[in-house]
Amino acid sequence: MSSPQAVFDTLYAAYGPQHWWPATTDYEIIAGAVLTQNTAWRNVERALANLRARDLLAPAAVMAVSEAELADALRPAGYYNVKAGRLRNLTAALIEDGGVSGWRQWSTASLRRRLLGVRGVGAETADCILLYVLDRPVFVVDAYTRRILARLNLARGDESYDVLAHWFLQGLPAQPDVYNEYHALLVRLGSGACRPRPRCPVCPLADLCPTGRCHGGGVVVAERQ
Ligand code: SF4
Repeated sequence: MSSPQAVFDTLYAAYGPQHWWPATTDYEIIAGAVLTQNTAWRNVERALANLRARDLLAPAAVMAVSEAELADALRPAGYYNVKAGRLRNLTAALIEDGGVSGWRQWSTASLRRRLLGVRGVGAETADCILLYVLDRPVFVVDAYTRRILARLNLARGDESYDVLAHWFLQGLPAQPDVYNEYHALLVRLGSGACRPRPRCPVCPLADLCPTGRCHGGGVVVAERQ
């Protein structure tokens, strides 16, 4: 059975550093963490570009604009009315807590509880913010992570978020930079080789993967960018 470290080492050797999170400001990461739910990243990028073009990629601006106008800017990300409400809720909490510098004063456990208490914020969004904005040692689990672990026969795929996160945390050094890189590598794999219809012959994990061996894997041709 593969270990978290073995999966990481194999992916990193094949793909190299991913330089995440793809954003230039903390607030852009926060907005992206809300928008990325249930949609492809290219759609998030289009919504973020709309926010940028309308000077809405800042907390005060998001709170000042009407929710209808905010939702219109978020349209490419899907569920745009829901996501507009969630982004406003999270932004209100951010402002109330004194911004990112205020959040830096919180312990990881306290801030995670705080974020999960914001209406519409789930574990994946909270952990993206903790890891990619605040450099805290949490592991981000998303739909790609579930699919990949299930195909590797390391999980059923329907376990709770915290159970899947624990599988990674117990097998890795408690280093945010490792968790940062690992999640990015899983996104690369899940959006590349390990799609809903897997492309196992070009997957770096093929030799570790029982599903891959059934789908013509074992010939490892890394997909370098
Ligand atoms: S070998 Fe196939 S099923 Fe296994 S992780 Fe790679 S792409 Fe997914």
